[in-house]
Amino acid sequence: MHVADKLDVLAAGARYDLACACGGGSHRVRGPLGRWVYPAVLPTSESMRLLKVLLSNSCSRNCLYCPQRRGRDFQRLSFKPAELAATYMEMFGAGAVTGLFLSSTITETAEAGMEDLLKTAELLRGAQLSLM
Ligand code: SF4
Repeated sequence: MHVADKLDVLAAGARYDLACACGGGSHRVRGPLGRWVYPAVLPTSESMRLLKVLLSNSCSRNCLYCPQRRGRDFQRLSFKPAELAATYMEMFGAGAVTGLFLSSTITETAEAGMEDLLKTAELLRGAQLSLM
C-alpha cells in the first residue's frame, strides 16, 4: 500500500484522540499534503500545525468505548517507525507540518507498542538534529 493511503487511514483513526483539544470537524486543515493536519496553539500564543496520526490501528484489546477496538471490522494497518519518521520529515520539509501528535493502539503488548513509539521519536530527533 502507498504511504499516502496508509497515512489517510491511520491519520483518520487519530481524530478520535482529543487530547490536544483539536478533534474532528472544522478545525482540520485539508489539502494535498495537509490531510489530517490540525492547528495547535502553544503557551507562547504561537501556532503550529500538527500531523495527528496513529502508528497502528491494529489493537489486541477490545475496550468497548474505543473505535479502534479489536472487535470492530475495518482495515487494520501499521507504520514501521522508520516509515512514519520519513513520512513526517517529508511533510515537515514541504512546510506542511511543524509538529507531530503521535499515538497508537496496542498491537501486541503495551511494552512493544511503547518501544515502537520511542523508536519513532528517536528517529525524528536524529533527523531534526541533522537539520540544525
Ligand atoms: S487498548 Fe487503547 S486502542 Fe486498544 S481498544 Fe483499548 S483504548 Fe482502544
